[in-house]
Amino acid sequence: MPRPILATIHSEALRHNLARMRRAAPDARIWAVVKANAYGHGIERVFDALTGADGFALLDLAEAERVRTLGWRGPILLLEGVFEPRDLELCSRLGLWHAVHCDEQIDMLAAHKTQVPHRVFLKMNSGMNRLGYRPSRFRSAWSRLAALPQVEEISLMTHFSDADGARGIEHQLALFQEASRDLSGERSLSNSAATLRHAGDPRARGDWVRPGIAVYGSAPDFPDHDAAHWELQPTMTLASRILAVQQLQPGDTVGYGSSFTAAAPLRIGVVACGYADGYPRHCSTGTPVLVEGVRTRLVGRVSMDMVAVDLTPVPQAGFGSQVTLWGRAGNGAVLPIDEVAASAGTLSYELMCALAQRVPVVVAE
Ligand SMILES: *Cc1c(COP(=O)(O)O)cnc(C)c1O
Repeated sequence: MPRPILATIHSEALRHNLARMRRAAPDARIWAVVKANAYGHGIERVFDALTGADGFALLDLAEAERVRTLGWRGPILLLEGVFEPRDLELCSRLGLWHAVHCDEQIDMLAAHKTQVPHRVFLKMNSGMNRLGYRPSRFRSAWSRLAALPQVEEISLMTHFSDADGARGIEHQLALFQEASRDLSGERSLSNSAATLRHAGDPRARGDWVRPGIAVYGSAPDFPDHDAAHWELQPTMTLASRILAVQQLQPGDTVGYGSSFTAAAPLRIGVVACGYADGYPRHCSTGTPVLVEGVRTRLVGRVSMDMVAVDLTPVPQAGFGSQVTLWGRAGNGAVLPIDEVAASAGTLSYELMCALAQRVPVVVAE
């Protein structure tokens, strides 16, 4: 009998969230962002549910090949473009669209022998300062690309640094608008946060939006808003079972470092889930968890294979009881992954991506 831990991918929730993002940007096409193995869900596991997207965006050539192998004939966009000249051969062969963010990538294209001209997304660095041409250099990059026989069509893209926060997108939007004003080509600007929080602004929507995290049912701007506020449903559940029960007396401690001490008699459950499963070790006493769908809390430190939970609100729970670390419990109760991530001082993105190889995964309707 394997350990009782299990991750479940919810196909219906993926479909729901994709439809939700379409409602937020009804006149734009949608890149479903499936980088990092579909945010830890597994590209092959989410593919069927996401075929309603207009294209798939990712960064890894091997992942692009997997999407083609699954039978996707529509657009695939490499968000960071190519890394070396021979990547362009694969782009030609698989019909991949690719970002162009630096002169080295234009040099590679200029030297590339191809039968099929490429479709590129020229990236502007409008303030994020990771990838792209500064506004003052954008136009000359565009002209250089436009003169290449290897290039069929140029689209324009940028990425927001603060779409989820107080600074917002206006400063970057203004730079992008100004520097691209009379350049032809489709536009792509918005990630999940920009698509949801700035849905009213057609400049931000452009021709293509690029939602990632919202497709996976997490609020891009937690704790400003939660997933329920945005009408997003969890797409990943991490669940396990109680493998032992301990009755603590006042003064008893729990786990490594004795970080938790019982002040009164306390019944705890020991759960088959630890940091080697991808559950964050930084979660401490008080982190929310569901036992039999009832909300309770972690007690003590997370260890490699186990974690302890307070059974006070669920006196009927015992050996074998279902524990939901995040996602949806058997009784329909939801524990937002955003809350668990916040307890660990991180983001849902990191928790999803860190789901460990040793955790079995099933795909559910
Ligand atoms: C990852 C990524 C996205 C998606 O971001 P979310 O916050 O997950 O919606 C969009 N665009 C680019 C360029 C990205 O790298």
